[in-house]
Amino acid sequence: MIGIPYHPKYHENLERTGNGEHQPCIVCGRGIKSEACHMVHVHRGGTHLVTEEEAAVLDGASDLGLYPIGPCCLRRHPEIKPYTRAAQIREEAMRIMRERRDAAEQGRQ
Ligand SMILES: [Zn+2]
Repeated sequence: MIGIPYHPKYHENLERTGNGEHQPCIVCGRGIKSEACHMVHVHRGGTHLVTEEEAAVLDGASDLGLYPIGPCCLRRHPEIKPYTRAAQIREEAMRIMRERRDAAEQGRQ
């Protein structure tokens, strides 16, 4: 688990460029133009990044799912690299998350 190093102007960037046709970067809030951006798993209500293994044992209520991160922010924060997944496997990850959530819910009943 790692804290998200939010850009000091995140909200400013988000308002200016993140609401258009491009998805906003989770770190800086700027719209990501690259098609091949990476995805990160945001947890603890939006303060931390987790691996899928960590997400599986954490409280699902604070799980926000996958968000994109821009290539510039990834270069600036190499410590985030182990937490990224290629955009191509995004769908696969969401399917696994849904299955885990369903399994956890069934386990509680
Ligand atoms: Zn960024």
